[in-house]
Amino acid sequence: MKDEKIIIVGAGLCGTLLGLRLAQRGYKVDLHERRGDMRLQHVDAGRSINLALSDRGLNALDKVGIKEQILNVCIPMKGRMIHPAEEDSFYSPYSGREKDHINSVSREGLNMALLDTADAFDNVKIFFNSKCESVDIENARATFRNMKTGELYEESGSIVIGTDGAGSAVRQSMMGKTTELLFNYSQNFLRHGYKELTIPPAEGGGWRIEKNALHIWPRGSFMIIALPNLDGSFTVTMFHPFKGPNGFDNLDSKEKVKAFFEKEFPTLIPYMPNYLEEYFENPVGTLGTIKCYPWQAYGKTLIMGDASHAIVPFYGQGMNASFEDVAVFDDVLEKHEGDWGKVFSVFQDMRAENTNAIADLAIDNFYEMRDKVDDPDFIRKRKLEMQLEQNYQNYYSKYSLVTFRPDFPYAKAMKIGRKQDELLLDLCTDHEPEDLNQDEVMEKILDLRNTFNYG
Ligand SMILES: Cc1cc2nc3c(=O)[nH]c(=O)nc-3n(C[C@H](O)[C@H](O)[C@H](O)COP(=O)(O)OP(=O)(O)OC[C@H]3O[C@@H](n4cnc5c(N)ncnc54)[C@H](O)[C@@H]3O)c2cc1C
Repeated sequence: MKDEKIIIVGAGLCGTLLGLRLAQRGYKVDLHERRGDMRLQHVDAGRSINLALSDRGLNALDKVGIKEQILNVCIPMKGRMIHPAEEDSFYSPYSGREKDHINSVSREGLNMALLDTADAFDNVKIFFNSKCESVDIENARATFRNMKTGELYEESGSIVIGTDGAGSAVRQSMMGKTTELLFNYSQNFLRHGYKELTIPPAEGGGWRIEKNALHIWPRGSFMIIALPNLDGSFTVTMFHPFKGPNGFDNLDSKEKVKAFFEKEFPTLIPYMPNYLEEYFENPVGTLGTIKCYPWQAYGKTLIMGDASHAIVPFYGQGMNASFEDVAVFDDVLEKHEGDWGKVFSVFQDMRAENTNAIADLAIDNFYEMRDKVDDPDFIRKRKLEMQLEQNYQNYYSKYSLVTFRPDFPYAKAMKIGRKQDELLLDLCTDHEPEDLNQDEVMEKILDLRNTFNYG
């Protein structure tokens, strides 16, 4: 066991995984979480009930040895089931490769499994109801408030790592030294928020709609999605403008909501017997992108996960990117163990460019899911991509590079993927995929990649 004590602020998905990995490396880990213990009482997890877990996240779970355990409680989603307003529903696979899929997992279930695994280590102490108020970032000393008694207390360690999410108190303390750290910060809210509803299990058990798909009801300026849960239900999320004639702020009576759903989502209503009650019970959440730099201060304090890069959820990558942070941090620690300043600065410089890229890709995907997935040019392009993925081992669409190729950093996947998209969309504007010579298309793709050091 090492002598050094590491203080981690926030026992959400990223913090608990990080604590677990550092415990495996022999560090003493104190994990402080503002909420109560979700394994003993229901605590509001605050965000989406289920999440799409994909290869980058799975890679990190593999490092700590719990990938298979988690996969056992996931539902594979092999593609999108699109439900357009005027036409029949259709299925669009995520990849032309049979094995590729993403996984629907319960946020709470995943967090609890991580907590259990971390808690089993003697060198991990988890403090619940322990809210970080501020951090003395130069001296790795944090002030916490006991949320039950109101008492304030201080803890110090060799380093403090903030994994306390988008509203990070640790980041806030770094921002207290903006000029000294040359701290850059940006926060951009979407004009859309989200609200969760439910499709309950079918009577007698089972799923009312296709189980192994992520469902989308695209409607131009708004959309609904649904991800399956193990109990046969689906978590349904409305992504919807806050303002406007049909915005959240105007859908303020049961009559208005009912009229809106009957007009826009008539085929969904029979699956959601309680949607009107749920609409008024469930809160509207905000969606935003946070970018900042640096992520570290004085080799004593570091932020990671949503604390350093909150992104909108439309690529299903926020948690995956946060888990990947832990895996990359671990690789860097392996190389530079003993010099926290070096570990922190190498880590932040490896990650910031990549998390900025996934933040931008997630915004792009918002528009794609909302108003392109049922566009004829886009559908032809996806069809061509599927065929290329089936016929050419070496072809990966932008979505596949981001989701199924963790060996491609996000920034590289974005650059190559965007160029490929432009080329294929151009080719599909006037042509059916069947009319194109695929060998020639692939030659163009390879030419394009040569300009990038594709690897
Ligand atoms: C609607 C929605 C859908 C999403 N879907 C997906 C998806 O499908 N796939 C995906 O990969 N990502 C998804 N995400 C993103 C994902 O939720 C986040 O990226 C992920 O939760 C980040 O993990 P984190 O541990 O960094 O932060 P969080 O999950 O926010 O955890 C932070 C933890 O710190 C605690 N905390 C906060 N402040 C303090 C404090 N002052 N002191 C002590 N503790 C504190 C919190 O209670 C919490 O436990 C989605 C997000 C949203 C909003």
